[in-house]
Amino acid sequence: MLTVNAYAAPSATEPLEATTIERRDLGPRDVLIEIKYAGICHSDIHTVRGDWGPVAYPLVVGHEIVGVVSEVGSEVTLHQVGDRVGVGCMVNSCRECENCLAGLEQYCLKGNTGTYAGVDRDGTITQGGYSSHVVVVEDFVLKVPESIPFDKAAPLLCAGITTYSPLAHWNAGPGKKVAVVGMGGLGHMAVKIAHAMGAEVTVLSQSLSKKDDGLAFGADHYYATSDASTFETLANEFDLIINTVSAVIDLDAYLSLLRLDGTMVNVGAPGQPLPLHVFTLFGNRRSFAGSGIGSIGETQEMLDFCAEHGIAPETELISADQINEAWERVLASDVRYRFVIDTATL
Ligand code: NAP
Ligand code: ZN
Repeated sequence: MLTVNAYAAPSATEPLEATTIERRDLGPRDVLIEIKYAGICHSDIHTVRGDWGPVAYPLVVGHEIVGVVSEVGSEVTLHQVGDRVGVGCMVNSCRECENCLAGLEQYCLKGNTGTYAGVDRDGTITQGGYSSHVVVVEDFVLKVPESIPFDKAAPLLCAGITTYSPLAHWNAGPGKKVAVVGMGGLGHMAVKIAHAMGAEVTVLSQSLSKKDDGLAFGADHYYATSDASTFETLANEFDLIINTVSAVIDLDAYLSLLRLDGTMVNVGAPGQPLPLHVFTLFGNRRSFAGSGIGSIGETQEMLDFCAEHGIAPETELISADQINEAWERVLASDVRYRFVIDTATL
C-alpha cells in the first residue's frame, strides 16, 4: 500500500479537509500516476452532499485528473514512466457485457466503476483525484496530447467528454443549430466543441452577464432565459439542445425550442426528477434524451480533437485550501469556467 496526500469530505455537510489515503499496490496491469492537476466538477458536490443517494465517508472526489506516470506494472504495454496521462469518470468496467464489447464501457450493464464512490474489484470504495497519486488499470488511462497545457487539460476528462459525446452522437456540425443551456464547466466546453464541429451555436444562460465570454468561446448567439421573450423568439429553432444545468428547469419551455425531429439531450444531473408534458414531445416529433460521459475510445478521440482544434477549457487554478470556497462559487453559478486544483498544494 502507498500512503498519499488527499483532500476528503468527512461527511455530507462538513468542509473538505487535508488527510492521507491508501492506494493499492501495483498489479501487473496497473499504472501509478503522480497527479498534477484535478478539476472540480459539479458532480463532486452532488455526490458528497448526497444529492444522488448515500455515499461512504470520508470520501475523496475528483474525476478530472491529469498527471505523470511514475511506475508501471510488469505487464503494462500502453504507458511508460514519464508519460502525460489522464483519468476521467470511470476506472474499470465488466469488459464482458454487450455494451462493454461494443466499446461503450460507460454504459456497462453491470455499472462502470466510478473513479470515486464506486466499488472497486477488490471491494474497496474508490477514491478520486483530489489526491497526489492514483493507481488505475492501464486501459482506463488516457494519453494527454503535448499541445494542451497540462492544467487546462484536466477538465476535458469529464466536462470535455460529457459534451463532446452527445454533440458527436447527434451530429452537431455545419447546417445544424445547437443550443447550450447553462454556461458553467460543461456548458462552456459544449460551446467551444460545437463551434469547432461547425454548428451554429446559441447559449441559453440565466442572464447576459457572461455574453462576451460566450461569444468569444465561439457562440453565434446568446440569450437570457430570465427574459420570457427569449422563448417566443427561439420557438421551433434548434436541431439539438444540450442541457447542462445542475438544477431542475422547466423542460417544456426548452423542448418547445426544438424544430421538427429535434432532440434535447440532458447531461445535467439534478437529484430530483425532471417533469415534462408528453404533448410537448408530440409537437414537432421531438425527442428527449440523456447521455453519460463517454467511452475510453471516444475520450481519446475528444482529447485529440481538442488538440487539433486548439481547444482548451477556461480554468482558474487554485490551491487545496481554496477548494471549499471554490465549491461555494460553483453552487452560486460563479465559476469562470472550471476550477482546477494544483495537487502539489495538497
Ligand atoms: P456548473 O459548472 O455548476 O454549471 C452549471 C450551470 O448551470 C451554471 O453555470 C449555470 O449556468 C446553470 N445553472 C445552475 N443553476 C441553475 C438554475 N437553478 N437554473 C438555471 N440554470 C442554472 O456544473 P457542471 O460541472 O458543468 O455540471 C453540470 C451538471 O452536469 C451537473 O448536474 C453535473 O453533475 C452534471 N454532469 C453530468 C455528467 C454526465 O455524464 N451526464 C457528467 C458531468 C457532469 P448559467 O449561469 O449560464 O445560467
Ligand atoms: Zn464530472
